[in-house]
Amino acid sequence: MLLVRAAGEPRARREAGFGQKGWEETMIVEMKILALPEEVEAVVGRAKSLGFDVQLNLGTNKTVVAILGSDTGQVPTDLFAVLPGVESVTRIMKPYKLASREFRTEGSRVTIDGVVIGGKRFVVMAGPCAVESEDQLMEAARVVKEAGAQVLRGGAYKPRTSPFAFQGLERAGLELLARARDKFAMPVVTEVVDPHQVDLVARYADFLQVGARNMQNYALLTEVGKSGRPCVLKRGLSATIDEWLTAADYILAEGNERLILCERGIRTFEKSTRFSMDIASIPVIKKFSHLPVIVDPSHAAGHYSLVPALAKAGLAAGADGLLIEVHPSPKDALVDGLQSLTPSDFSRLMGELKPIAQALAREI
Ligand code: PEP
Ligand code: MN
Repeated sequence: MLLVRAAGEPRARREAGFGQKGWEETMIVEMKILALPEEVEAVVGRAKSLGFDVQLNLGTNKTVVAILGSDTGQVPTDLFAVLPGVESVTRIMKPYKLASREFRTEGSRVTIDGVVIGGKRFVVMAGPCAVESEDQLMEAARVVKEAGAQVLRGGAYKPRTSPFAFQGLERAGLELLARARDKFAMPVVTEVVDPHQVDLVARYADFLQVGARNMQNYALLTEVGKSGRPCVLKRGLSATIDEWLTAADYILAEGNERLILCERGIRTFEKSTRFSMDIASIPVIKKFSHLPVIVDPSHAAGHYSLVPALAKAGLAAGADGLLIEVHPSPKDALVDGLQSLTPSDFSRLMGELKPIAQALAREI
């Protein structure tokens, strides 16, 4: 998929009313397979002449034109339906647009260094919560790779609830991640917490992670969007699926289509787990969005004994992968040791995921 901004920068669109009343009425014009470029241009031209902004989704077979504007609700769909090359015109009443299935009917795939998220293979991203030292990270990378993980995770910047808790090794942590990536030939995912640090983190990491606490940090989302780097957007602690997908639109609106959602549990009245794993969000996302979605069973469970069951549930529910905490020695971990798997627990889990993947015609 290629998202092309056909008119207006995000700022201009915001000034024109993006996000304000009326923008909930987007129109999606689906072009016929093999529609001619001039037919697409005619649709774009008519939208612009009516004062609307346009986003194009140039799919492999067909183009979809999203018409964004404060008054699309007042414009008859026939104005576009009659144009040559138009297959259908649909109004979207949802708060999110670019993340919606209406905008893109086929599922998106995010590819980096041969790793494809959103395809047949269930992609496992594993590693420690935080990068703590060279020995710890290299050993973690070695064991997760050996067990079949494709991506190494590790936080260099940790958004901790308390300012007195370990905040991560920061830049030194990024350097260690880059070293681990080179040594083990694995892409790395790490969290970025500050819009001003997106460029820095993007210099070292393959995937930028936006954490649960920052899901609605719109300045951060915009910078991550501008960076064009693949991004893992975690669900906020108390975010609805609509809010999550609308946050995703901030990244997509900058033309960054390499976006993966991550369900990591939400806050409920239940106290026996750290968060409540909303397993239903996986099929809900698949129904309403084209974006790939992975699960993080570690933060949902909060306890290592519960993590394997939630990981398997994620695969069974149709997730595209896993983001999971593995530490060479969880009892010595500086952060999240209780929910981290040991290398042997992780390798056992990878073995247990295999028959489930097979039964679902997936690969791992
Ligand atoms: C993490 O992945 O280490 C993390 C802090 O996760 P979350 O943002 O989901 O709490
Ligand atoms: Mn953690």
